[in-house]
Amino acid sequence: MNSEDAADIGDFIRECFNHNFEFLKAEGGGSIAPEVRQTALNQVLLYWRKLRQIADRVTDTEVPIHLPNQTTPDGRAFGIEGVVDIIREDDLTLMYDIKTHDADYVRTHTHLYEMQLNLYAYVWQQLRGEPLDGTAIIATGYPESVRDTLPPGKLADELTEAEDRILDAALKVWEPLIEITLDDTSVQETIRKFGEVVDRIESGEFAPPPLETLKEKWQSPTQTFATRVCRNCDARFSCASYRAYAQQATGWRMMHFARFFHDDIPPSEQEGWVAATLNASAEDAYIDALLGEE
Ligand code: SF4
Repeated sequence: MNSEDAADIGDFIRECFNHNFEFLKAEGGGSIAPEVRQTALNQVLLYWRKLRQIADRVTDTEVPIHLPNQTTPDGRAFGIEGVVDIIREDDLTLMYDIKTHDADYVRTHTHLYEMQLNLYAYVWQQLRGEPLDGTAIIATGYPESVRDTLPPGKLADELTEAEDRILDAALKVWEPLIEITLDDTSVQETIRKFGEVVDRIESGEFAPPPLETLKEKWQSPTQTFATRVCRNCDARFSCASYRAYAQQATGWRMMHFARFFHDDIPPSEQEGWVAATLNASAEDAYIDALLGEE
């Protein structure tokens, strides 16, 4: 691919990304901070750069996987839906599931992904009668070694030649493709677990786990439930357990975060924080709020 083609693809990715972003914003009524938006766009740009050979070979994109007419342990009807990409080449059919998680996490928790992908494989093979020779996860969350090569505020296709060489070296050691072993022995167990979650939702069981659980290691020798799960949870600002966790934390990050649970934060600071989340200028919002207080 020459540099002109690469620029065209970059523009195309930006256009699609911005279109999707505006659509999701309108649909969900929320937004994200500019840094998070840039990281998301870099994920897409780097996915294309690193895995172009796979992306080019995908023959069926966003293929819906439906498992209807299931029953929960409490007797409720439910169905399971998913989306995968398929590559059909000669006599070979491969199924890919794209996750925004980082590859190291997927590798150390393969069993979690095996459950879901083997369920999709079961639907694909048994219910749709389609052939399948292999499955894999594509983990698009790029590692710290790649992140550290991206200068702050720059997108992956806006680098100087020297910066691009450093990025290229980091990309060479990144392995975002994780093969998953095909095995349908636990499919019924996976369906039952989905059913249990449906029962809890339908029964209104939304109580968070106790503070002790947040402090415990969760599916990792190094990360706690609070770090691995709560940090990615949209409900954490109104969660009593997370509030308790934040208020007793000693790390500077959490101590800073805990301030947002206090009522005595000045309106100017709250406005700045809200503005950052809404993709507006935090500085402008501070100034507006300060003027409003005068
Ligand atoms: S912050 Fe979210 S994930 Fe963590 S305990 Fe509360 S509700 Fe559960």
